Amino acid sequence: MARIGIAGAGVLGRLLAWRLAREGHAVQVVDPAPGPDAPPTGSLLPGQPHAAGFTAAGMLSPLAELDCGDVEVARLGWRSLPRWRALCAELTPPGYPQPLMRQRGSLLLAHGSDAGAAQRVLARLQAAPDQPRPEALDAAALHALEPAVAPNLTAWYLRDEGQVLPREMLQALVHQCPEAQWHWGRRVQRVLPGELLLDDSQALRCDLAIDTRGLGAREQVPGGLRGVRGEIVWLHAPGVSLQRPLRLLHPRHRVYLVPRPNDLIVVGASEIESEDRSPVSLRSAVELMAAAHSVLPALAEARVVHQESNLRPATPDHAPVLQHQPGLLRLNGLFRHGWLIAPALVDDALAACGLAPLVETAHA
Ligand SMILES: Cc1cc2nc3c(=O)[nH]c(=O)nc-3n(C[C@H](O)[C@H](O)[C@H](O)COP(=O)(O)OP(=O)(O)OC[C@H]3O[C@@H](n4cnc5c(N)ncnc54)[C@H](O)[C@@H]3O)c2cc1C
Repeated sequence: MARIGIAGAGVLGRLLAWRLAREGHAVQVVDPAPGPDAPPTGSLLPGQPHAAGFTAAGMLSPLAELDCGDVEVARLGWRSLPRWRALCAELTPPGYPQPLMRQRGSLLLAHGSDAGAAQRVLARLQAAPDQPRPEALDAAALHALEPAVAPNLTAWYLRDEGQVLPREMLQALVHQCPEAQWHWGRRVQRVLPGELLLDDSQALRCDLAIDTRGLGAREQVPGGLRGVRGEIVWLHAPGVSLQRPLRLLHPRHRVYLVPRPNDLIVVGASEIESEDRSPVSLRSAVELMAAAHSVLPALAEARVVHQESNLRPATPDHAPVLQHQPGLLRLNGLFRHGWLIAPALVDDALAACGLAPLVETAHA
């Protein structure tokens, strides 16, 4: 049994804690957030940063993300999908309205006027080695899958893609892991081999110190880290049926609509080179919602119930950081793929540290 200290309880920190505690290690996790749950909607203020994972749409889109990610990200994503399925089976609370992870595929959509932009994205997806191909859908097939989508859109089906419910999954990973010790409201200044240096200069000593502080680790990530602003809008749309994530291929934006329980649809996301965490701008809100309405006309009467912005932790080349030396592991730079790739990255990291994965890696 090893003593493990984890700095940061985002997607990575919680997944690592859950895995390592279940394998019998003594795990302590430190995070400045007041507790494990998502900040209440509507109460986000600038200066109160919280894990990017809470804001995320939770799409598990290895193929669609090839538009802006490397093929290695897609491979990590495909390896992660069965991991999420297994976690979902263990963590979805009984009676919950929707499983914490679903795999019904996703749709790429384009308006006729944007055919050029759509072809550029499709060519990129089709050129990736060893990847499944998007399947073109005719109007009847599109209607059968998603009857609320505007009929004049061109559509492609990405069969095996999925989604998680990020807030619920983050909460479940803590609530169903009482074996770990969770220290909320504490900040880690530095993560060094075998110790976490806390904000009051106390040190938490351990056999393996793990740094998963996202942007909070900026000074200690080799090669540098920056925040990339993302904004999302939640719509309450009773009666508007949506079964799977939709992405609109658009010349200027990467707009998606993601169904959530209780008639909610998340519309996202801007991608802005700025570390501004202030509330969503009028321009982003207008552009995201206009695009969403063009895809699902029935959203006209939806209510805007929540808006949120956050920063994605990104390296200069957008590749994730996995750095290991005796007594120390750093994982960071998950950019716009944190939910997509975290389980496979955690497998690789634990293998690098000599802490074997729970089960053998399975490919989707
Ligand atoms: C708008 C938006 C949409 C997104 N959509 C998707 C999506 O659909 N699919 C997908 O795969 N990814 C998506 N992402 C990306 C994903 O959310 C991130 O890649 C992921 O959250 C990164 O995980 P992390 O654990 O590294 O960091 P975070 O989730 O940011 O967690 C870092 C943790 O470290 C803590 N911390 C910070 N400083 C300290 C400190 N000094 N001491 C201790 N703890 C500290 C923070 O409080 C936080 O809990 C999206 C992101 C955004 C912003």
